[in-house]
Amino acid sequence: MAHIVTAPCISRRHADCVEVCPVDCFHLSESRDMLLIDPLECIDCGVCVAACPENGIFMEEEVPEQWQEYIAINASEAASLPVVTTREAGRRVEGS
Ligand code: SF4
Ligand code: SF4
Repeated sequence: MAHIVTAPCISRRHADCVEVCPVDCFHLSESRDMLLIDPLECIDCGVCVAACPENGIFMEEEVPEQWQEYIAINASEAASLPVVTTREAGRRVEGS
């Protein structure tokens, strides 16, 4: 099991989540304009859920039906993307 970033993150990318993650498992997808969690690194601590102002992070078994595809997207893409450990690195630049 792991936590999953879903569609509400797209184009928002506050990156508040990366500041609280104890194991640095958030990765930046520039092409999707969102962050993704590597499920093999996530320890399911759950602190990122409350940190996300868009309510875009869910436990894998609680991902809403319309965002189920993001389980596979996080699993297949996150690990090959750059790790984001600071809000500045992950945050979307306004107007970009
Ligand atoms: S807190 Fe993290 S998961 Fe939530 S919208 Fe911002 S970058 Fe995305
Ligand atoms: S549940 Fe914990 S370990 Fe997993 S991404 Fe969120 S903060 Fe990181």
